Amino acid sequence: MTLSRRHFLSGSAQLTFAAPLLAATAPLLDAPPAGIDYSQITKPFVGKKVSAKDITQQDIGGLALFAGSGCNVVGLQSPQGALLIDGGQAVNAALLLQAVHARLGTRRIGALINTHWHPDQTGLNESAGKDGATIISHEVTKLAVGRKLRSPLFDGTIGPLPQTARPTKTTYDAGEFDFAGEQVQYRHLPGAHTGGDLYVYFPKRNVLVAGGLVTSDRWPVMDYLNGGFMHGFVRSYDMLSELVKPDTRVIPANGPVMTGAELVKMKDLYWQLFKQFFVLFNKGFGPVDVAQFNAGKEFKGVVPVVAERPLLGNPLLQQLGDPSQFLEFAFRSTQLATLPF
Ligand SMILES: [Zn+2]
Repeated sequence: MTLSRRHFLSGSAQLTFAAPLLAATAPLLDAPPAGIDYSQITKPFVGKKVSAKDITQQDIGGLALFAGSGCNVVGLQSPQGALLIDGGQAVNAALLLQAVHARLGTRRIGALINTHWHPDQTGLNESAGKDGATIISHEVTKLAVGRKLRSPLFDGTIGPLPQTARPTKTTYDAGEFDFAGEQVQYRHLPGAHTGGDLYVYFPKRNVLVAGGLVTSDRWPVMDYLNGGFMHGFVRSYDMLSELVKPDTRVIPANGPVMTGAELVKMKDLYWQLFKQFFVLFNKGFGPVDVAQFNAGKEFKGVVPVVAERPLLGNPLLQQLGDPSQFLEFAFRSTQLATLPF
């Protein structure tokens, strides 16, 4: 677009009038508003240190599941070392590795898959790099761990990870490999929880490691500033629903193991919410309004707001807790993806 001379002149005139006002208000910007602790967003993310007894172990179809170090971590042994999917938080890496090697009888990490770049998942990358392991991820995850980033899901700054801790094998779509005589498949879930999510599937065992979009002890809050958005989230739930059988064991990012049937139920609920979002979107609702509407609040407008409220009385509230943050972030992501900024 080229600016006409008339527009240019009127723009300049506005600037001339605006300048003294800016000068008068500028000193106020030097002091941050009272009550906001800005150090929280400039300090590096640390994580939550746990003790050895907090790391629990379980057998899921012959795979070892370790919980408590920041996310669910899945392990499988081979003579070349352990295959691990995700790694908990770095602050718990030593404790987790101790538990992994004791359980699997391994001495090194042979391969590590990052389902996404968040610090709950990438805490073993440095150890894996030192062991000379193959580190597999989506290309977006590799780019993300090479930078200093912020996420609305974590306090402070995250990364970059040192060069040795970064993925050595990436995909944009899907891949598979043979590990200790067993097929391991992984595939991109587009725009689900971040911009670079992978699921990992063990066909022989009928076990799915779902990645960040599936949780069973909290709501799967999406990182709407780093590529996660509701459209991709429901599309990715469709992909997982097509992959699983009712009795598939689904290992979520956090929380107890689920079945394929339970995952499909969640998919149906998320689709209902997605459709509701567009009704509320067209009524001019904001993210907080959406959370309140789903909690039962009535909104009085010129015309009544008619939309389904699938969360009212839904047993998932007992299981996953307060959905406000999930709803707010999911709706924000819908706004970001839909409004023509
Ligand atoms: Zn995550």
